[in-house]
Amino acid sequence: MRIFDPHIHMTSRTTDDYEAMYAAGVRAVTEPAFWLGQPRSSAASFYDYFDALVGWERFRAAQFGIRHHCTIALNPKEANDPRCAEVLDALPRYLAKDGVVAVGEVGFDSMTDDEEKAFVRQLDLAGEHDLPVLVHTPHRDKVEGTRRTLELVAASGLPPERVLVDHLNEVTVDMVAGSGCWLGFSIYPDTKMDERRMVRILADHGLDRMIVNSAADWGRSDPLKTAKTGQAMRGAGFSEDDVDRVLWRNPVAFYGQSGRLLLDPVDIDQTATFEGNSVLRGQRPA
Ligand SMILES: [Zn+2]
Repeated sequence: MRIFDPHIHMTSRTTDDYEAMYAAGVRAVTEPAFWLGQPRSSAASFYDYFDALVGWERFRAAQFGIRHHCTIALNPKEANDPRCAEVLDALPRYLAKDGVVAVGEVGFDSMTDDEEKAFVRQLDLAGEHDLPVLVHTPHRDKVEGTRRTLELVAASGLPPERVLVDHLNEVTVDMVAGSGCWLGFSIYPDTKMDERRMVRILADHGLDRMIVNSAADWGRSDPLKTAKTGQAMRGAGFSEDDVDRVLWRNPVAFYGQSGRLLLDPVDIDQTATFEGNSVLRGQRPA
């Protein structure tokens, strides 16, 4: 089984996770820029985080044989904090970088006016930078948040196939399927969405534009939920080709629209070190 986890926050995971993911078949990931669990107190805090996503984390993943990509945005939750507003002006600098394969996560957390303003502005940035968009749907008021999300996406003029609407469930799957956007499902260890329910959704709705992720972060989550969904698909009679389509070819097709995916196997370089935002090769001190 080869796996592309299209939504995982590796910054908050350990090297044990990288080893277990590789053993389970994970060969590439996308890490969306998001909230850190604790509010940032200034815009500069974002820039260090974005630099880590395009530099250090990409290097760290490669040391475990995994290709790392990221998405960059002002996240919905911190779009409400005036201390963070200037981040929007700095985004173009990051959206131009290698390894940035979409604008995201954008969207709604509590459905405020400030969230909507930041969301609309970042949809425009995606158009200007010719990048796809990863949209987070809220865990509360999911139906209303998803409905408004689809209205704003339609109004943006972005082609729906450039937009991935994430954290869906049985209640929101139909509206997004009808929109032409890609459908993302995050599989959690608790009740929000599990692999058994995911398999039922795939059986009912087909595999077209369907994307599965672990959304693993600093909270209770499981970076092997993509692999476990693949096993559940096999158990329900899906073919190896079906599993490959959902866990590899679909996310590759979506993020591949950026023209920036790196998917060839990593040649792990034990001599490499990472200093001052760049990789040094063959210079590890004896
Ligand atoms: Zn996330």
